[in-house]
Amino acid sequence: MRSAIILSIIIAVNFFSCYTWKARVPWEAQTPVITDDFSIFAEPGLDERETTRAVREASLIRKELADKFFPGSKKEKILLILYRNAASYEKYRLIELPTQADYERYKNRINIPVDAPAYVWRHEIAHAILESIRPGAPYWLQEGLAVFLQNQTFSTAACGSSVRMPPELGVLLPGMRQTPDLSPSTFHDYRTGAEAAGLSAGVAGYFVFFLWKKRMLLDLLGRYSRETNSSPEFLLTGGNIERWRSLCEEFRAWIRTEEPLAALPGC
Ligand SMILES: [Zn+2]
Repeated sequence: MRSAIILSIIIAVNFFSCYTWKARVPWEAQTPVITDDFSIFAEPGLDERETTRAVREASLIRKELADKFFPGSKKEKILLILYRNAASYEKYRLIELPTQADYERYKNRINIPVDAPAYVWRHEIAHAILESIRPGAPYWLQEGLAVFLQNQTFSTAACGSSVRMPPELGVLLPGMRQTPDLSPSTFHDYRTGAEAAGLSAGVAGYFVFFLWKKRMLLDLLGRYSRETNSSPEFLLTGGNIERWRSLCEEFRAWIRTEEPLAALPGC
């Protein structure tokens, strides 16, 4: 049961960098449909109205997340491979985990069924935005930001919405609380099975939520996009390893409270 719940929320990001690129699906040989946000390769037979609706929704999600977290950032087109449904996506899935969608960062390419739930779209678009703003973010920031953002809807009012983690992730908390040396930078074990991948994504997501709670996330992302020689860990701590250890220690203590399950102000 626990595995099934975790599997349902894992949405992969592919970190392979030395990958020989090839077309993922036969219909990538077609000329893509180009919009302001996306280069779209839609599976033959896909209903055009359904494609249009999904792409419009995806553009709104991209705008909302970019305006909130990376205002004024450059806008690169994201490759979008659209599948007719989950079964079609499954047929062409490359990653070994049973994911609902995935993002290939070396190609800035999202693979997703057209009828995927909104949270899946938000997750993958968050990956693509961060990668196009500054490539190569460490796992905890890439996956953590996507996991954190998949559940949020930020209203235009400054504090008009609350922010919380996906409730299903709460099943990970007991295991996280028992894990010694729980540090976001040492958990990125997404290729050794669903349990490990779920735990890694959970640690990353909760750490980003923890940064939100400490009101450090917006500042971190702004500086991360501008100060391109600095790692996120450096930006959080000024390069002081003791401050990083102490931040991780505070995170471990926070994980043991009930606050990771709570809603926080959306600002
Ligand atoms: Zn992901």
